[in-house]
Amino acid sequence: MQNTEIKTTCSYCGVGCGIIVTKDSQNGVSIRGDQDHPVNRGMLCSKGRNLHYVVNDTSDRILHPEMRWSKNQPLEQVSWDDALDRAAAVFSSIIKKYGPDSVGFYISGQCLTEEYYLVNKLVKGFLKTNNIDTNSRLCMSSAVVGYKKTFGEDSVPIAYEDIELADTFLITGANPAWCHPILYRRLEQHKEKNPKVKVIVIDPRRTDTAAAADLHLQIIPGSDVILYHAIAKKIIEKGYVDHDFVRNNTENFNAYKDLILSTSLEKASKLCGISIADINLTADLIGKAKGFITLWAMGLNQSVVGVDKNTALLNISLLTGHVGKPGSGPFSLTGQPNAMGGREVGGMASLLAAHKELANPEHRQEVADFWGVDTISEKPGLTATEMFEALESGKMKAVWIICTNPLVSLPDSRKVENALKKAKFVVVQDISHNADTAKFADLLLPAAGWLEKEGTMTNSERRISYLPKGINPPGEALPDIEILIRFAKKMNFNGFNFNTAEEIYAEHCALTKNTNIDISFLNYSRLKNEGTFQWPVPDYGHPGTPRLFTDKKFYTPSQKAIFNLPSSIENKSVQPNDKFPFILTTGRVRDQWHTMTKTGKVARLMTHTPTPTLEINPIDAFKNNIQDGDIVEVNSENGNVRVKAKITDAIREKVVFLPMHWGKKLENDLNRTNNLTNTLIDPISKEPDFKFTSVSVKKY
Ligand code: SF4
Repeated sequence: MQNTEIKTTCSYCGVGCGIIVTKDSQNGVSIRGDQDHPVNRGMLCSKGRNLHYVVNDTSDRILHPEMRWSKNQPLEQVSWDDALDRAAAVFSSIIKKYGPDSVGFYISGQCLTEEYYLVNKLVKGFLKTNNIDTNSRLCMSSAVVGYKKTFGEDSVPIAYEDIELADTFLITGANPAWCHPILYRRLEQHKEKNPKVKVIVIDPRRTDTAAAADLHLQIIPGSDVILYHAIAKKIIEKGYVDHDFVRNNTENFNAYKDLILSTSLEKASKLCGISIADINLTADLIGKAKGFITLWAMGLNQSVVGVDKNTALLNISLLTGHVGKPGSGPFSLTGQPNAMGGREVGGMASLLAAHKELANPEHRQEVADFWGVDTISEKPGLTATEMFEALESGKMKAVWIICTNPLVSLPDSRKVENALKKAKFVVVQDISHNADTAKFADLLLPAAGWLEKEGTMTNSERRISYLPKGINPPGEALPDIEILIRFAKKMNFNGFNFNTAEEIYAEHCALTKNTNIDISFLNYSRLKNEGTFQWPVPDYGHPGTPRLFTDKKFYTPSQKAIFNLPSSIENKSVQPNDKFPFILTTGRVRDQWHTMTKTGKVARLMTHTPTPTLEINPIDAFKNNIQDGDIVEVNSENGNVRVKAKITDAIREKVVFLPMHWGKKLENDLNRTNNLTNTLIDPISKEPDFKFTSVSVKKY
């Protein structure tokens, strides 16, 4: 039998690179970048290039439903029917006894849009609770709120093609050289061809991205809002404001200007650890830019003041009029492959389908009518960390976890572990036994993985891709939509008579009609035959929309963008003190993905960073008698970690860094970074404060 080729999309980060999979007669696959794909033009990063190892190695896969009748019994293999009968019986009895809000679903930005849509409909429409949240809460929720407050809706305005049209980039709280490598490669290539292109990076660490920048502002963690205000002040004072844009297309400028002009540069310089000369230089570079793009990720979003950081940054684009024109605009970098698709279908505790508002009674009724149910609860659902707190306190009794590993990825792992132990019933629907959370399952459901099911995803630039099924899943694993449909039928819910992913997608598209994300004229046929589309796609012949707001009309009631003022200019994290004098910040390493259940299986991806290390500045190491390679113990209010020290001047004094990937299972409990992290969240976005935990460090 001949090899066959399948065009699909990488399952890792939000860049959304096109991949060509070659499948042999034994179901073995190999991979190369798709030369014709508009995102990556044939390029793939180390993770994407090695994706076939993950597909070909099924040694860790969950092959059959497994269930235990009580917490002290082992899991045993059961049939799908028995597994889902039990799930339906337990969920029904808990809801009957304790009410709908006693159960919840915790899902993932790696879910396909159809899965997201279906589970959101199941939970909000039929289980009658809004307790459905996703690990995108840990990733993009501060950016979502920032966009809504500024533009009136969660709307990334620009496209990757704007990168090649810009001359100035401000990358802040992101390390795209490692975390969004192909997008960064496009920026690098653009700069190589156009040496006058300027890149400014704001980061407490001299990452690979910062090392290659024209200007690196090595900021003290948490002081971003103050720095953006100081830069804005110089932009105003130096006459770089786009007055036409501000006058005609924005609201609240005068209040913003008053606040900005009251900023003391000397104070800002001290609080941020950035010289006034560098603040001046940054303002000049931005002020003289013809095309100015801001790029940001978790360094801004994962903060107790994440929304304030986002709006303060967005204000700089408004101030200089760099929105809605080629080569200009704010651009949040999505961490996960389909966090954007999840937002489109409203798969979070605070959202409704098709970007409709949960808090709006008319929107709730529209969606309820569309789904054929009486009502949707007005009570906001529990968000990621709130859900596990509710399990720990006993308010929530059962949780269904799909395609995510909260035991490693949520802050304060010990709290999450307690929550999973206390829960009456834990369903884990996943592909791998390597997910630490799976150990706490009362019901373990084997899901199909990437290439083993079909569906769609939306990348960081609103680009929707169709992912075909290429191979069969191993054992009895099923596509997530199939599992959810079978469960819904066991619960006797109407509205789940779908036979294909395509039918689910068609229902989602129909619900977007006449919204700002209208894709009511998009369908599988167009995606298969014409390729990817950027939403909105509001009619049959429409080619998609690379750039939003070209008419300078925003989605606010006045159609003007809004300058938002922060609730406070200072960070609200727990500050370092005598007991915990260092600021711990966390992040990714180049070749690993999330909690390593996939990339951790690939030997060649383990060579770049084989074990986690604590980055510490040489001065701090000297003061604490720490040598390079020493085992150090890191302590916080919540727990401890023991790892090797890596002494490097790439990190600021009094700041230390740990990668977030390693869990308990791979070596021992003391590698798990989230043993340490604090449980503060942004009050609006509810995104955790991963980038700022006060810790102590000592030689072990
Ligand atoms: Fe995959 Fe992201 Fe790498 Fe592209 S940049 S190959 S989407 S991990």
